[in-house]
Order: sequence, then structure tokens, then C-alpha cells
Amino acid sequence: MTHTRRTFLTTAAAAGTVTFLPFAGRAAGHLPNEFKYDGGLVTVHPVAHASFVMETPSGTIYVDPVGEAAQYGDYPSADLILITHEHGDHYNAETLAAIMAENTQLITNPAVFDMLPEDLKARASSLGNGDAAAFNGVGINAIPAYNTTEDRLQFHPEGRDNGYVLDFNGLRVYISGDTEDIPAMRELENIDLAFVCMNLPFTMDATAAASAVSEFAPTYVYPYHYRGRDGGTQDPAKFASMLEGDIEVRMGEWYS
Ligand code: ZN
Ligand code: ZN
Repeated sequence: MTHTRRTFLTTAAAAGTVTFLPFAGRAAGHLPNEFKYDGGLVTVHPVAHASFVMETPSGTIYVDPVGEAAQYGDYPSADLILITHEHGDHYNAETLAAIMAENTQLITNPAVFDMLPEDLKARASSLGNGDAAAFNGVGINAIPAYNTTEDRLQFHPEGRDNGYVLDFNGLRVYISGDTEDIPAMRELENIDLAFVCMNLPFTMDATAAASAVSEFAPTYVYPYHYRGRDGGTQDPAKFASMLEGDIEVRMGEWYS
């Protein structure tokens, strides 16, 4: 019997199925940063604050990569990079120049497109609020992202910056960018995975974020972008405690 069992395990390992054993005993069927759907698996790698990498069946997608290029060295090179807006915690031309591979494509909001160096602009597309594009079978919709509170309007004026909804044909991902709890967020439908910002004074507090997320009710949500440069930290655990309904919170290591 012992011999038989060993043989089985060896065979399983050779076939690569051992990779999936950790899923077996988990009710949700997922590791914390892995999201299985009919089309395959999306793996999320939080990098820092607003920057993250997603490995997907349609390629590797970087969102708002800034900072040292070495932070991205452990991940496959980007097939697509999404930029939400021009602030330094979301857009850095030097980082882009350092990490873009030969075939990397770039999608930005119009304001960032206009400020791109010429060599990057040649590989970029501009999407304004309400515009849509496709990349390797992924639908990409640019969603508004802006401030609504009077003394915050200057940070993200309406119409300039983007959030994004990515449709992987079986998994819909919302990336908020920097925004308050605007109608366009509350009206989102059928979101499986959401990344939602919360910090003051630049975006919104955890209470507003929890209210909006409870309304559009994604299956999973990552609180991200929850520290500000001069205080203004929001507590992602408090955000999680205020959520209503059946929404699973994923805590990424955004500030390790
Ligand atoms: Zn911003
Ligand atoms: Zn920001």
C-alpha cells in the first residue's frame, strides 16, 4: 500500500497537479491572491499603495506601476500597463521607461497620454471616461474617477482621471483609481473583484468606501491606496467591518 501511495504522489507531481492541492481543502476554493473563474486564473500581486500586477490568461497586466523598477523584477514583464492618472503615486515616466518590454502596450487617461514622452506615446492608447478598448480578448472600460467634496475638488477634477473595469469574459475586475464614492462606482454591476481606494484628503474615508462597495457588492474587494502622504491613513480593517452583505475582503501587503 505504501508503495502504491508513493507512486500516486509521484505521478501527481509529474503531472503538475500538486500545484492545485492547496485549493482542495478551502471552502472558497481560492488562495488569498488567486481568483479562479471559468476562463482560468487571475493572480494578484500587490506591489505598493496603488501599484499592482495581475497575471491573467490574457497576459500580465500592471496597474499604475511607479517606484523602483526592481520592485517588478519578480514578475513576468508587462503585456499591458494601465495608468489611471498623472499623480506621482500612479504615473512615473522613468519607471515606465525602465519596465516596459519590447511588446508592452500602454493605456492611459487622456491627460497622461498628452504628457507621455514621445517614445512611450507611440506605444500608448488614450481612453477617456466612458471609452472602451479591448486587449487580447479583455474588455477595458474607462470609468470616471473624481472628487465630489468641495475642498477636495482640486485633487481629481471630474472628467480627467480614470478608473477601469476589465472584463475577462467570466471575471470582471474594477480598479477605482483615485475617487470618491461617485454614482459611476455605486452603479457598477456584476463585479467579481474590486480594488477600492480610501485616504484623506485625496480620495474618501473608509466609511464612504464601505458604503459604496456595499452598494455595488463585488464578490471580493481589496482595500488599497489607504495611506496619505501627510497622515490621512484609513484603516482597512475598519473598512472591512463596515461592509454590508456577503463581500469577501482581501488584505494585500501594500505597505510592507
Ligand atoms: Zn491622485
Ligand atoms: Zn493616489
